[in-house]
Amino acid sequence: MAAPQPPDSPAPPPALPPAPPTGLPPYDDGNVFARILRGEIPARRVFEDDWAVAFHDIAPQAPVHVLVIPRGRYCSLADFSADAPAEALAGFWRAVGRVARELGLEPGGYRALCNTGVDAGQEVGHFHVHLFGGRRLGRMVPPGG
Ligand code: 5GP
Repeated sequence: MAAPQPPDSPAPPPALPPAPPTGLPPYDDGNVFARILRGEIPARRVFEDDWAVAFHDIAPQAPVHVLVIPRGRYCSLADFSADAPAEALAGFWRAVGRVARELGLEPGGYRALCNTGVDAGQEVGHFHVHLFGGRRLGRMVPPGG
């Protein structure tokens, strides 16, 4: 039986179940971004450090369209935010901001976007943040409610 807790002791947080895959299959080491990380297929890299790699999108949708990915095996923002160690979270998000700055996007502004799962149309099952910039980007999502 568990020892009784003193009255002013906060209850321990309930254990979370594993992050849902948001409609995606489990992580697949053969996905295209995993292959870019391993250097198996080329990419126009603009940044890399211990936590993140950034490279130009193969089909750019803005004058600047760069993808920033963590080095770890995460499918999407769902499992990255739930499961990544704090230093990986900090290192990754710091890299996202740094890449935007180094690409010269800060004076005009930019958009950081991560499609997460099926409803968002996520195509590649390795967590990534899109950085768009270099023009007025318009609405965040198509009209429709
Ligand atoms: P998602 O829809 O998953 O958020 O975005 C995936 C992105 O990856 C798309 O913008 C697509 O153009 C890009 N992409 C897919 N395959 C490759 C590739 O082999 N190399 C690069 N650089 N980008 C890719």
